[in-house]
Amino acid sequence: MQQLKEEIMNYGIVLPGDVLKVDSFLNHQINPKLSAEIGKEFVRRFSEKKITKVLTIESSGIAPGLMTALELDVQLVFARKKKSLTMNSDVYSASVYSYTKNETNEITVSKNFIDADDHLLVIDDFLANGEAAIGLAKIVEQAGATVAGIGIVIEKSFQPGRDKLIEAGYDVESLARIASLKDGQVKFVEEMTFA
Ligand code: 5GP
Repeated sequence: MQQLKEEIMNYGIVLPGDVLKVDSFLNHQINPKLSAEIGKEFVRRFSEKKITKVLTIESSGIAPGLMTALELDVQLVFARKKKSLTMNSDVYSASVYSYTKNETNEITVSKNFIDADDHLLVIDDFLANGEAAIGLAKIVEQAGATVAGIGIVIEKSFQPGRDKLIEAGYDVESLARIASLKDGQVKFVEEMTFA
């Protein structure tokens, strides 16, 4: 997705530890027009799939997840990282290790919001080791529901997440695929071009 790649090239900051900071348009300040285009692109890429809900994780998955849900005209559910006081014990949960924060969160979703006949499109902002996406997929499976696909805004293709998800049988679509962040430079995976 060209517009997203340009935003990454113009505003992305490479931090030590192969972390890309995109606080100015995705993770802190949010660019609404770009988010709307991200939603449309996910819908285009998963157009063959039956999707009844979008599932993401707070907080950075909410903007792209919401725009995708709006485009599909379905509900968005986001997994919480901290159990809310009003949430009773009737939850699906999975443990997710955060690469950037070096902490493990027990993520939870109320059982009220996923039914066994749901087909959920899982959306997240980044894919690195696949922990967050696998945690979300586990929650879908606990509900007896179906993962329709996994949509990622920025994939760090040099880390093992994508292969893990493909191996587990999921359809993965990433809007920007980064081959390397070496020497502070963002290099994208070459896209195949057809003459
Ligand atoms: P994974 O669970 O695939 O290891 O990592 C994905 C999660 O970690 C995302 O939800 C995202 O919040 C965070 N993350 C991983 N790598 C990066 C990165 O390079 N930059 C930012 N901003 N977040 C990242």
